[in-house]
Amino acid sequence: MSGDVSSLIASLMREVPDFPEPGIQFKDLTPVLADARGLAEITDAMAESAAGADLVAGIDARGFLLGAAVALKLGTGVLAIRKGGKLPPPVLSETYALEYGTATLEIPADGVDLTNRSVLIVDDVLATGGTVSAAVRLLDQAGATVTGAAVLLELTDLNGREVLTPLPVTSLHRV
Ligand code: AMP
Repeated sequence: MSGDVSSLIASLMREVPDFPEPGIQFKDLTPVLADARGLAEITDAMAESAAGADLVAGIDARGFLLGAAVALKLGTGVLAIRKGGKLPPPVLSETYALEYGTATLEIPADGVDLTNRSVLIVDDVLATGGTVSAAVRLLDQAGATVTGAAVLLELTDLNGREVLTPLPVTSLHRV
């Protein structure tokens, strides 16, 4: 991990107390993605971590922005892992626990053949690891191999990295 990217993220991200629920310290990464140098350096660092991936999967919704940028850099396609209820049937689906509440992730069961694809998962924040774990199970159901996960920010107290063991996880900034 480049220290420069980490300090750039630290200088641009915003902390919002008690959002979306009391007790949650929300990390707003909007200013990081809106910064030209921020977006470029994050994309480069994530692409460097993507050894062997032939497809990038971005998690709804900020993972879409980063996922598409990383895919362009790598010369691969991008797959959107959607929140529940957005895709037409047939879908593959996984429900999981969040730091706050529960959620469902879905991908199309038809149309994109994921058998034996090597996939890098991209998201903005790794907290408990529930979201990335659900994405791994989803891609596994589809016959793909997840080669790693890349996130902009890791909340280390929540031990998401351990939950994902032995998956290689690259995080560009840790708090
Ligand atoms: P988790 O499943 O617990 O690893 O949570 C990761 C997902 O929830 C990411 O997609 C984040 O967008 C979101 N998230 C969880 N905690 C926070 C937080 N404190 N600040 C911002 N986003 C968060």
